[in-house]
Amino acid sequence: MIQYYIQYHNADDMGYLPDMDNIPDTGNIDISDIRFDTAIKDDFSFFTRKQSVEKAIGNYSFLITGIGGKRKAYYLWSFIIIDEVEKERDHFVAYGTGFNFARPILLNDLPDFDHFRNFCGNFGIGFQNISNHPFCNTLVGFTNGVKPRIDTSQQKETEQTLLTTLEKLNRKMQQITPEKRVATIELTLRKDREIVTLLKKAANYKCQFPACHSEIKTKAGMNYVEVAHVLPVNKGGQSVLGNLLVLCPNHHKEFDYGDLKIIEQTIGKLSGSLNGKDFKIEVIKPKH
Ligand SMILES: [Zn+2]
Repeated sequence: MIQYYIQYHNADDMGYLPDMDNIPDTGNIDISDIRFDTAIKDDFSFFTRKQSVEKAIGNYSFLITGIGGKRKAYYLWSFIIIDEVEKERDHFVAYGTGFNFARPILLNDLPDFDHFRNFCGNFGIGFQNISNHPFCNTLVGFTNGVKPRIDTSQQKETEQTLLTTLEKLNRKMQQITPEKRVATIELTLRKDREIVTLLKKAANYKCQFPACHSEIKTKAGMNYVEVAHVLPVNKGGQSVLGNLLVLCPNHHKEFDYGDLKIIEQTIGKLSGSLNGKDFKIEVIKPKH
């Protein structure tokens, strides 16, 4: 049985509304004017510190946004079908297929909402299973007619088109505002799934750490690798070429927790020592 979760975005604390790339400021916007493209997107993601998100793969999570100081208006904003969860240093990133409603849906006046809000600890609980609350049916009702698209990331591409696409995406990722990059709070919609997927492909699903021969076969037949940020996201690191490394899980963890000394980080090269072992890595970089 499909389980339903919620994730909460406090726009007052965060200083921006979710998925509004061009309007980071919450101050001067009338929410009733917001219209979204309702096309399904396969690059949605969110952060949470809740480990329970690892059990939510294959299930739905609604995003609720609250704004307006003490007497907040609460909006149903989007939902995501979680299909991958990666553990980072102190939080989890869930990736999946996402969907914005045509416009944010005001929840305050709907039946059962107050009870629901209490159930969710005024949304202070964060990522939480809501399947057993009656209000869950109300939220599910808004998703009528939405058919999640199957992952198409494994379609064939030549190396050339792959690099072109990576560069295009890279330029897009570079434009994400600093507000969005500082991900110290519970939730930020980080839209880096596409670049992460392509980067793994460009690295041929091999760990970029020198002389690593890690092999973990996935059900899909590919080698399992992860993408690490050289400068962590919570320190302002961007999901752009030059700051991303394809690593096996062991080297990813060693990077995160080991004694890492960076000697040189240029756009195409990363050298230093990791737990006393010197390394030099050619990072996949933009051509221009
Ligand atoms: Zn490795």
